[in-house]
Amino acid sequence: MNYVYLDNAATTKIDPRVAEVVAHAGEMDFYNSAALYGPSLLVKQKIQAARGVILKRLCKSGDGELVFTSGATESNNIVIFSKAVKHGRVLLLEGEHSSAHMPIKHLKDNGYTVEMIPLMNNGLANPHAIGGAGDGAPTLVVFGLVNSDTGTIQDAQSFVREIRARYKNAHIHCDATQGFCKIPFDAMELDLDSVAISAHKIGGPKGIGALWVKKGVHLKPQMHGGGQQILRPGTENTPGILGFAKSVEIYETQKNLVHVGKLHTHLIKHLPNGCTINGLNNNPYITNIQLSNVLGQTVMNALGNDGILVGLGSACSSNSSINRTLVAMGINEQKTRQVLRISFSPTNTIKDVDAFTSALKKNACQN
Ligand code: PMP
Repeated sequence: MNYVYLDNAATTKIDPRVAEVVAHAGEMDFYNSAALYGPSLLVKQKIQAARGVILKRLCKSGDGELVFTSGATESNNIVIFSKAVKHGRVLLLEGEHSSAHMPIKHLKDNGYTVEMIPLMNNGLANPHAIGGAGDGAPTLVVFGLVNSDTGTIQDAQSFVREIRARYKNAHIHCDATQGFCKIPFDAMELDLDSVAISAHKIGGPKGIGALWVKKGVHLKPQMHGGGQQILRPGTENTPGILGFAKSVEIYETQKNLVHVGKLHTHLIKHLPNGCTINGLNNNPYITNIQLSNVLGQTVMNALGNDGILVGLGSACSSNSSINRTLVAMGINEQKTRQVLRISFSPTNTIKDVDAFTSALKKNACQN
């Protein structure tokens, strides 16, 4: 079936130009990049060039180190387990993705002091409300650039400034998975210590991501093995890495923002009466729609029968019944089950939006 796919925050279809690079690298660049003969050295050079492409996209100056990982989940985990210490505190923004929330919950369950930074009703962080209840100064602060449930883009500059003013020595880690390439930002200009990103949200392959680390910042490896990348051992995923770089290279941030912006404007204009938007909707890629008195799951299933695929929220928490982001924004639990998440990719069209809004009218507005 040819679906209308509107759950691109969960994952995107690989771009055919990227798929070609992945297939070619699998066939031709299969040599282990750590071996010492000629073809391996060529593979190593290609990986280094790919690293440069992605690094430049993260910060114009190309500063810092880029370590390839299996995805943003791994990148978040490396930083969290490296920087949390028992005698300090960990601060985590409410509503973060499970790949940051769950490792920090694990730490909390094991006796670490964890403090949540609250969200305001519009989904923006409220760093002024940090309680300061714990004993030591925080060693680690974790926040997302773009919330994966509401799409809200944090005011990262003010957030980091506030954290730095309070806790000079804290490591500030940003999960930029939903923003990388889509929303302009610069890791160095934002004064971040580390950033997690992933390829499969921007038409890249699955199972490949990266961790950017500011120059001079030391992280402890969480796995031990060969010496390929010191922070992250294991044979490098050459097809994934080259595919990731290709997806970054061909992603046209401004042009795509204009196109997705048009889709978003059209969506908002044609939403059925009774539907509202949750959170500051300052990002056209993701929209969290509040339905009136009908379960999101019910509507999602009905739309699925019409060939339209939408989400309920972050796919990694969609099997748990509450949406942590919406609850943190003060929305009552019953209403958090009455939402849909629409997320675009640059390949979506106005026709896709029309198919969605008319199916939504049919399935969610019978009262
Ligand atoms: N962080 C955010 C904000 C995400 O949306 C996702 C993917 N849903 C991840 C982390 C995890 O990324 P990956 O699938 O690459 O592990």
